[in-house]
Amino acid sequence: MEYEGNYGLNMIQVTTPFLPPKEEFNKYVDQIWEKNWQTNNGPLLNELELRLKAFLGLEHFLFVSNGTLALQLAIKALNLKGEIITTPFSFIATTSSIVWEGCKPVFADIDPDSFNIDPEKIEALITPNTCAILATHVYGNPCDIEAIEIIAKKHNLKVIFDAAHCFGVKYKERSVLEYGDISTISFHATKLFHTTEGGGIITTSPELTYRLSKLRNFGFLTAESFDGLGINGKNSEFHAAMGLCNLKYADEILEQRKNQYLHYHSQLTNLNVSYHKITTGTDYNYSYYPILFKSEEDMLKAKSLLETNWIYPRRYFYPSLSGLDYVEKQATPVSDDISRRILCLPLYHMLSIEEQDFICRILLRSQNN
Ligand SMILES: *Cc1c(COP(=O)(O)O)cnc(C)c1O
Repeated sequence: MEYEGNYGLNMIQVTTPFLPPKEEFNKYVDQIWEKNWQTNNGPLLNELELRLKAFLGLEHFLFVSNGTLALQLAIKALNLKGEIITTPFSFIATTSSIVWEGCKPVFADIDPDSFNIDPEKIEALITPNTCAILATHVYGNPCDIEAIEIIAKKHNLKVIFDAAHCFGVKYKERSVLEYGDISTISFHATKLFHTTEGGGIITTSPELTYRLSKLRNFGFLTAESFDGLGINGKNSEFHAAMGLCNLKYADEILEQRKNQYLHYHSQLTNLNVSYHKITTGTDYNYSYYPILFKSEEDMLKAKSLLETNWIYPRRYFYPSLSGLDYVEKQATPVSDDISRRILCLPLYHMLSIEEQDFICRILLRSQNN
């Protein structure tokens, strides 16, 4: 299929970062100039942490440099050593953080309906060296949290949830970020809510929060003493300012995202694909629009036709992480199969209905000849 004519529309990427009105950001920049307080737990960072706690309904929240460092700090704070059972179907940072912290990732295959780690595959992988489970709530869709917690309790394992996609998600009336020993989130520019670069760590334990706050700041206890090893995991007033500006639009973004998601759904009923199953009990954030084709060939055909029309969906997540060359080879056939057939369609705040309709027409056409 050839070029359809992009109706004068621009290139459509899988996502385009949200930008708040510049004047609103400039007001915060003025405040930064007035005080010349640019980083190190400044007033804007404190305000952002407080506002995020209120918005997301959290007891504790630490703003850090990015979502990858949040994972690394979580592994450090729980003093994990040895094997961590994790999912092969996630962004690279989930696995790389484990390896970076000197632990060994052991991959449990995923559930073919939710695309999240399959709790039934976990127990057989537990050895005397297993210390934790690190699972991703893929596309913001909660894992089988209860099943994971039962296994963890039985075998005395820690649980970390990579909740990078989970801004605004609730599970059983409570923020999904408050499950597990620690949850982490990313505020990278491509995420639903962002601070350009940034991330967060959430735990319901005040002791762990205190430990994490020291780890984030070189291990400083006072200006002249240290309480163990630490790193620079802080974030700046400029990033906090971006977060404060964006938080004002978070409700609007969440609502719009739901409408866009449902619009795709209504337009694509005749497309021969399937969808991930949203976990029962979830207030979902509709952060991504993944579609699962019947074959990799079907997916590649649709992708290439979209690209001919200047539309760039992404293969989130491909390749399956169990095939990385720095991990021990492990068989995860479900993840391998799904990662070859999955495609995430463009979905971001400024994506118009016309653009969505255009994308849908091309997708339908990819299956009609
Ligand atoms: C984005 C993402 C991360 C990493 O976050 P950064 O803020 O980019 O470091 C980790 N895990 C998942 C699942 C992600 O999507």
